[in-house]
Amino acid sequence: MIGQLPTFEGEVLTPDSPGYDAARAVWNGAVDRRPAYIVRCAGTDDVRAAVRAARELGLPLGVRGGGHSAAGWGVPEGGLMVDLSRMQGVVVDPGARTAHVQGGALLGALDAATQPYGLGTPAGIVSHTGIGGLALGGGVGWLSRQIGLTCDNALGYEVVTADGDLVRATAEEHPDLFWALRGGGGNFGIVTRFDLRLHDVGTQALTAGIDLDPADGLDALGTWLALAQESPRRATHVADVSAHGPLTLGFVWVGPPADAAPWLGRLDALGPQLARRVTPLSYLDLQAQSDVPTAHGYRRYAKSHFVRELPDAGLEAFLAHAGADVGRASLVAYGGAVADVDPGTTAFAHRDAWFEYDVGARWQDPAEDERNVATCRRLAATIEPWSVGVYVNALGAEGADGVRRAYGAATYARLRQVKSAWDPDNVFRLNQNVPPA
Ligand code: FAD
Repeated sequence: MIGQLPTFEGEVLTPDSPGYDAARAVWNGAVDRRPAYIVRCAGTDDVRAAVRAARELGLPLGVRGGGHSAAGWGVPEGGLMVDLSRMQGVVVDPGARTAHVQGGALLGALDAATQPYGLGTPAGIVSHTGIGGLALGGGVGWLSRQIGLTCDNALGYEVVTADGDLVRATAEEHPDLFWALRGGGGNFGIVTRFDLRLHDVGTQALTAGIDLDPADGLDALGTWLALAQESPRRATHVADVSAHGPLTLGFVWVGPPADAAPWLGRLDALGPQLARRVTPLSYLDLQAQSDVPTAHGYRRYAKSHFVRELPDAGLEAFLAHAGADVGRASLVAYGGAVADVDPGTTAFAHRDAWFEYDVGARWQDPAEDERNVATCRRLAATIEPWSVGVYVNALGAEGADGVRRAYGAATYARLRQVKSAWDPDNVFRLNQNVPPA
């Protein structure tokens, strides 16, 4: 026994333990909370014991997967943190085209295990993101326009419930839970294993981008918007604009680079370029190319909207981000296979979004917090008139209104029913919380 806790196969850290500060640190360096206990679970039995212990001791329970949530949901002040970072296993069955992924695994581990077979499944675009939080909120990446969200490729989940029991959720077993775990976040239990469907995705990719002067980028951006919607599903179009920087229009292509040639031509036709970059690369390198700019430890803030239509006034608002003091904004195309799925099939509600808009900043000095957060909020407010919702995994700590916006009325009401059945006491509440009905 450690204090009043049971014995775990993994380690338990308290504020006096060596390594405690490193273990409570998450991606967003502005998160500075001190759990009473950090349980570094060695496996499913530890997770079950940790859930029961938190309940018996009346401690707030946080679940840390990859630590990427901007709000730092995994780190409970004075509570018990279930740290899944030792549960990183990925087992691939190339014949059955499935991957069994432990609850704390990072995306890089999934890609590294599947790519030797030319296989893959949609997940995020940064290799140090946790599959746990990502998949439970939906999970979007460069393969999503081809083969959907991570949750669209989930075959089953092994889940530790609020009572510390272990259940399986599939289309046949506990279908209500299976539905809710595909987009409903960490509200329903702790997933110790994800079973994911794999696809032949090959190992090749290409990135393309042209830089333009944002001051006369309106026509080009408007044409790019249309291109993004009519392009093949192998292409995911991305537009970026950053403070005092150029407008970058381009796309990411997953597949043989030669097949992208017509779409490179369309990009080149957009207007006079300040610079042009076309890079064939492996899918594994694509998945790691943003790892350094998105490194752990900086103070961060970001705000996001799903948009469908963006008329000239919206495009002008986006281009005006170049005149701000801080911030980098992007528009990333959705549609394709994401939109093929009926919105009621999973708890990921916004299937009809055409783009995700996001603006964010990173910095190191706490004295800049207020200014940088205010700037990002001001910029995001200029796009809000065209917002049709928000991706739950891109939402900060915005309270119940934010969570409702992420799900829309029908999905939110259904999630509350499932929550009542599986977690009526709201044990799993440190997340984008859906309260019991
Ligand atoms: P954590 O902070 O560890 O977990 C967040 C919450 O998720 C937990 O508090 C818990 O409620 C829940 N959770 C995590 N694991 C489990 C589990 N096994 N069982 C039950 N609940 C669990 N999202 C995308 O869809 N696509 C992207 O390409 C993408 N890129 C990103 C890049 C960066 C640099 C960052 C910071 C975020 C990105 N995101 C992306 C958003 C990301 O999906 C969310 O931040 C998500 O919460 C990260 O999960 P995590 O496990 O790393 O985070």
